[in-house]
Amino acid sequence: MSLRARAERRLSVAVLSGGVGGARFVRGLVDVVGAAATTVLGNVGDDVEVLGLHVSPDLDSILYALAGLADDRRGWGRSDETWNALETVGSLGAEDWFALGDRDLGLHLVRTQALYAGEPLSAVTARLTEALGVETRLLPATDDRLRTWLDTPAGSFPFQEWFVGRGHRDEVDAVRFEGEHAARPAQGVLEALAGAELILLAPSNPYVSVGPILAVRELRDALARRRVPCVAISPLIRGRAVKGPADRMLRRLAGGSSPRHVAGCYPGLIDALVVDEADVDDLDGLGEVRPIVTRTLMTDADARRRLAEAALGAVPA
Ligand code: GDP
Ligand code: CA
Repeated sequence: MSLRARAERRLSVAVLSGGVGGARFVRGLVDVVGAAATTVLGNVGDDVEVLGLHVSPDLDSILYALAGLADDRRGWGRSDETWNALETVGSLGAEDWFALGDRDLGLHLVRTQALYAGEPLSAVTARLTEALGVETRLLPATDDRLRTWLDTPAGSFPFQEWFVGRGHRDEVDAVRFEGEHAARPAQGVLEALAGAELILLAPSNPYVSVGPILAVRELRDALARRRVPCVAISPLIRGRAVKGPADRMLRRLAGGSSPRHVAGCYPGLIDALVVDEADVDDLDGLGEVRPIVTRTLMTDADARRRLAEAALGAVPA
């Protein structure tokens, strides 16, 4: 089947995604298969309370990217942003290490109020998505409290304190997920996996973006029992992360940053791994996992679409 025919048939896809890298990929995917056929299962391990507000950075990266509101140059947050509120916070001597722009703050106010009123995160997210005119379904992996912690030589830190506060300078000895035993999949998550004809793991950090999603046990079990292909897209090119600490984490936690080490993060969970053409000579040790070799740097809309098409190629015609 040609790619156009696939798109017209609206192959239904569930994609597990972190923030920025994931959002880039999801934009390409939605371009190819359409919003109605795509469900994004987002990471909430990065969620953080800042100045009394509940911030879900990864969900918001996806939301802003799909709504056309993201600041592509900065790589996070909203375009056309101003920082007056944060300046006031700093001038009052309060915590201003986590950058929240004025436009961004408005969304956090609305979300926080809804959560305080007892609305589940998935319901708030659905409302925000609709209000921003985004037709793609975006679900948090869980509505329960799930938080990523990093154990480092300098001590244990909640995700944002390590990532933003300390600029992820500390090497990571272990990643833990507070709340993982009690966390249930949010409403719609298992249905999305059961209804998908293809499951994708976005080119997101395997440990701190996809890892917390897979820490939701019933979600992981559903993936392990899948009857459809599951394809991961590697976030590394020539063993290096395009951005962020994924390569350092892999070297320290998995013993290397080759395609086989990326695949090793997803044991029994993936059937294929999309790797960059620069890595074509480094495909040993993938075992049952089939490599799909293509250009994986998402420099523009065309590159994003081509990467999505390569992953979709895993579904037999
Ligand atoms: P975060 O939650 O904002 O940190 O974002 P993700 O975990 O979703 O994405 C971070 C990962 O995206 C990093 O490991 C990057 O290497 C990867 N990434 C970013 N841009 C690209 C790209 O153009 N191609 C590929 N293959 N990976 C990318
Ligand atoms: Ca993240």
